[in-house]
Amino acid sequence: MLHKRQLVVVGTMLESIYYVITWACDRACAHCYDDRFRPYPSDDRSRMLAKQAEQMPKIVGHFPDRLTFRDLCDQQADGIFPEKPGRVILSGGEVLLPDVREKLLYPCLTLLRDKYGKTARTAVQTGGDLLDERVLDELLTRGIWMVSVSSIDAFHHAESDERGERLRGRLTRLFEKAGVEPSGIAAECRELVEEAGPVYNFFGATPDAWIGKLWPSGRAWQNGLSTAKYMDNFCNAWSGGLGFLGLGRTGCEVAVDPEGKLYPCCRKTAVPYGDLTQERLADILESLVGKAPFEAIACGAPERMGISFGVSPADFRERCITRTPKGALFVNPCIGCDDIHREFIGDVLGRISRERAKKNRDGKQ
Ligand code: SF4
Ligand code: SF4
Repeated sequence: MLHKRQLVVVGTMLESIYYVITWACDRACAHCYDDRFRPYPSDDRSRMLAKQAEQMPKIVGHFPDRLTFRDLCDQQADGIFPEKPGRVILSGGEVLLPDVREKLLYPCLTLLRDKYGKTARTAVQTGGDLLDERVLDELLTRGIWMVSVSSIDAFHHAESDERGERLRGRLTRLFEKAGVEPSGIAAECRELVEEAGPVYNFFGATPDAWIGKLWPSGRAWQNGLSTAKYMDNFCNAWSGGLGFLGLGRTGCEVAVDPEGKLYPCCRKTAVPYGDLTQERLADILESLVGKAPFEAIACGAPERMGISFGVSPADFRERCITRTPKGALFVNPCIGCDDIHREFIGDVLGRISRERAKKNRDGKQ
């Protein structure tokens, strides 16, 4: 007999955590979505990595105890949605820089292995230039499920398409030799394919990709490179806010930065939703469930995030109109979203955070 409990999700679980472990990068691409991703002078870089390494155990410690989800896309004949392994995507910057590897990436893989064993998967996102036989072997030894190469586009390989294709060819041979299979999961796809791993894929900011129009942030914004229009709603797509409060079910993903700041989307809202060096991820998300602005974002409908503050969808559209630093007219929901966060949602998050702190204090007494 089918019990209702088997159809619903118990406890806070997620499909995916996109964890940016460092700002350090070997490039400073003109199209990058965050200007903190860049090379740093050696002393600054050492200090930054040391701080990020110190915070990492606290951040991972505040990830959910169990990282699995019910796959609503895979309904069984008996009506049950199977529980499947969630994943942590480790990204930068460039996570394969030698000091980032040793001080952050490998310790992080160990922390995740200790916490989840084989019940969750780890993916490593890299530009790919620094990937060789030895590094791939070190990743595989540490049990990674996927290597995702994110640089196959004209921005990273502006010199020529050939350079990108040469990198793709070299890495494909490397993966094949090591027995790593091509993934059937497109990087922008929410649909889960049953792949035991290890697997690899390639993607980039190409015109056909979900990030091809570029988020209006970081250097992409400063350089006037985003071609997004109003109907290019990044929120309603992979890595947007869509589904971030759908705890325990398909599509529930959040983003975390190297300092432990939590966001509903990879582009990052103007105000973080919590601090994982201080609080459990589950406590933060659960405190936002049922609250109008956050539910609107979770539905991929940023137009509606301001309604409870008296900002109608039409007013929201007005707030989406701006000029780029290069002087061009630009209209996109992420701009209105930043505005609403600065004017209203920051205060709401502050209040909810104080309520969580009080609840914790009361609980301890
Ligand atoms: S786009 Fe990627 S490789 Fe380029 S600066 Fe940003 S994080 Fe680094
Ligand atoms: S509208 Fe806001 S929440 Fe949605 S993707 Fe843009 S910045 Fe993120």
